[in-house]
Amino acid sequence: MAEIRLERVSTIFGKVRAVDDVELTINHQEFVVLLGPSGCGKTTLLRSVAGLESIHSGRILLGGREVTDLPPRKRDIAMVFQSYAVFPHLTVFENIAFGLRMKRIQSAEVKRRVESAAELLHIGEFLQRHPAQLSGGQRQRVAVARAIAMESGVILMDEPLSNLDALLRVEMRAELKRLLREIKATTIYVTHDQVEALSMGDRIAVMRAGKVVQVGNPLEVYSAPADRFVGSFIGDPPMNFLTAELERDGGRLTAVVAGGGRIPLDEPSAELAERVGEGLVAGIRAENIEVARQAADAPGNGVVARCLVVEPLGSHNLLTLALGDTRLKAITRPDYDVAPDEDVALHIDARRIRWLDSESGLAIGPPPQAGSPVPPA
Ligand code: ATP
Repeated sequence: MAEIRLERVSTIFGKVRAVDDVELTINHQEFVVLLGPSGCGKTTLLRSVAGLESIHSGRILLGGREVTDLPPRKRDIAMVFQSYAVFPHLTVFENIAFGLRMKRIQSAEVKRRVESAAELLHIGEFLQRHPAQLSGGQRQRVAVARAIAMESGVILMDEPLSNLDALLRVEMRAELKRLLREIKATTIYVTHDQVEALSMGDRIAVMRAGKVVQVGNPLEVYSAPADRFVGSFIGDPPMNFLTAELERDGGRLTAVVAGGGRIPLDEPSAELAERVGEGLVAGIRAENIEVARQAADAPGNGVVARCLVVEPLGSHNLLTLALGDTRLKAITRPDYDVAPDEDVALHIDARRIRWLDSESGLAIGPPPQAGSPVPPA
């Protein structure tokens, strides 16, 4: 079993709590992505698991065995760094074999593992070349092959694709995901790229200022962010935030949002129903706003916005809308025809709103309905 368990781990540099009281379990053969802005502690957490940083407090367990005070070489972990860290004077074969030679593995076994890892990464034909004779993408494959050849069951990756150009990154992303599933390694993968995180991880641990603020599968962190920070960090465009206040009208609750628009709440959660008259924020994903011509009066329910900008992006149009002083992003079909400065009616399904407390930014109530009601292009 290669489960990784972090119990209240803190790693401190002087006055900086780079990792602050983190509790996190990565299940056997699971792929967990650490995601967060620059400086939030992702690399430090990864290096703490590897034993390259000593932790200030807490415990780290690998496969149920405490490794908190063990040196890196005794933890049986393979690591891929952002800089490929391939040795220019060694052939591809010897680069991949490097860690195995350090462990004094027999040469027949080294050959078997190197050839098998090279085949998985499609670099079998380059084994006798030197790194200078490879492209950036091929060099990155060598670094990954070196980790895989360790056959350690736990692989830690720190932004392994960040040196590649955009096209190659997208290609390698899918390939790496398939590969890690195939070799069944337990993986922690660090990135600050939320698209990479959503597309690759079984689960995503979102970090901010040394803390893990949410752990969930891609759909959970996208549709039901734990707080405003996660909603704005994940997703392109980020989640829309509308100030709102609830009104009770007879037995019905209505949210009055920025600009004075009204959204009826048919099935409010108990937690939300308690918040009448308090400052709230409605978190709404761009694809959960249906835009209709006001004149056609189609599904409008009382929220009118002005269209400021239309960006045709091929598969869809991205609209920037003004609702009072608030700017919103909405997605429409690519053939949806709306002119800048035109007023449009917005239909916002209350069941798809993530409600947040306006002061703390923390989510209120159960997750909203996931998925998008707006048909794809
Ligand atoms: P990035 O995405 O930019 O690599 P990160 O999320 O990986 O950022 P870390 O590199 O873990 O963040 O850094 C977390 C904090 O710890 C930062 O404030 C950083 O300046 C600090 N830090 C990291 N390593 C050290 C060190 N060796 N000594 C002192 N401070 C450090």
